[in-house]
Order: sequence, then structure tokens, then C-alpha cells
Amino acid sequence: MRIVLLGAPGAGKGTQCKRIVAKYGLLHLSSGDILRQERAAGTELGKKAQSYMDSGALVPDVVIVEMMVAAISKTPQTWFVLDGFPRTVNQAAELDKSLASVGQKIDAVLNLKIDDQVVAQRMTGRRSCPQCGAVYHIENLKPKVEGICDNDGAKLIQRSDDSLEVVANRLKAYHQQTEPVVDYYKNNNTVYDIDANRNADEVTALIFENLDAFVKV
Ligand code: AMP
Repeated sequence: MRIVLLGAPGAGKGTQCKRIVAKYGLLHLSSGDILRQERAAGTELGKKAQSYMDSGALVPDVVIVEMMVAAISKTPQTWFVLDGFPRTVNQAAELDKSLASVGQKIDAVLNLKIDDQVVAQRMTGRRSCPQCGAVYHIENLKPKVEGICDNDGAKLIQRSDDSLEVVANRLKAYHQQTEPVVDYYKNNNTVYDIDANRNADEVTALIFENLDAFVKV
């Protein structure tokens, strides 16, 4: 299975990917996580991405496509779920081209649909673990001990791009540049629309229902 998970920032892509990976044993490739690792390591790529990420804008396609194609081709035989990529029609077309060149394709697309006000409420309350990447929410998905990661005891942080102003920019980028990707895939692939306004466990159940049926086919 080669899966793309689409959805606005804050739709729960990261949380759902971790659950998909745990159940189906896929490799999780998150463009946002890779960029944050590059930034933390102080690489040229990380430096290039920094100002875009801090303002909530998209990093240029050429940078992202090269980075993600490299990540995918490191494990060519492995099935994966892509999280946060592709985010533009151009990225989707470049991904298809690169997969086609080695006889592969995207098998299924999950589209997490969510209202903007729910996104704003979720993202400003989001906290994440700087060590393992686990994601929590101050109201909807609390850790066992406030402010501390359940997995490794690290102090949880708020991502700098989860402020209200930056969230508004990220939503704008999503509507202008990423929503057309859904139509791109609807023309060529199986796209499952999932109501992501629901709580995390309900969304997981919907995703598993669709993927289980897909896997049986
Ligand atoms: P995320 O964690 O997926 O919300 O990504 C955080 C930030 O990284 C985004 O706001 C963008 O600035 C950048 N980014 C991540 N993935 C992409 C992508 N596929 N294309 C362009 N920019 C991206």
C-alpha cells in the first residue's frame, strides 16, 4: 500500500499516521517532520525552509520534491504513508512521475475534511514531544501528566507555527494550494473522504474501515 494522507494543517494527519503505521506496518514519511529535523540539524535545506515555515507559507516545490523523492527512494520496496506531501498539484504530478519511473503508483488517498474553526481551536491547543514527535492537545488529547510526554517523559512544547496568526496563513495556503490536490487525485485515484471534525478515535475508526476494505480488494 502506498498511501497519501491529505488534510488541512491540524486535521490530525500526524496522529492518524502513527495509528495507520502501527496497524498496517507502513513507513511514515512526514514532510513537516523531515523539515523540522533538517532545521534542528542546521543543514542547508533546513536553512532554506526556515523563513517559509515560520510565516506559514509553503516551502518551494523544487526543494520539497527533491527531499521527498530522496526519502522515498531510500527504501524503494517499502510501502509508505505520506503525510503533508504532496501539498500542491505540481508536487503531486512530480511524485507520480517519479513513482512511475520505477513502476510504482499511489494506491489510495485519504482526505481528512475539517472546518477552519475546528482547525484553529485544535492547533492553538496542540502540544508535541520534541523527542519522539508524539502529539497531544490541552483539552482533547491530554497526556497522563500535564506537559509531559507519556512515551519518554520529555517536556512538551508548542510549535512556533501553531500561533493564531501563523495558523491563519497556513489555512490560506491550504485552501489556495492544497485543496486542488484533492481534485487532482479524484481524477486518477481512489480517494476516501473522511470527516475529521470528529474526535481522533472516531476518525481512526473511519480510516481503518476504508483501508481494511481496500486491503481486501
Ligand atoms: P506540517 O508539519 O506538515 O504542518 O508542515 C510544517 C510546515 O512545513 C508547513 O507550514 C510548510 O511551511 C512546510 N511544509 C511541509 N510540507 C510541505 C510541502 N509538501 N510543501 C511545501 N511546504 C511544506
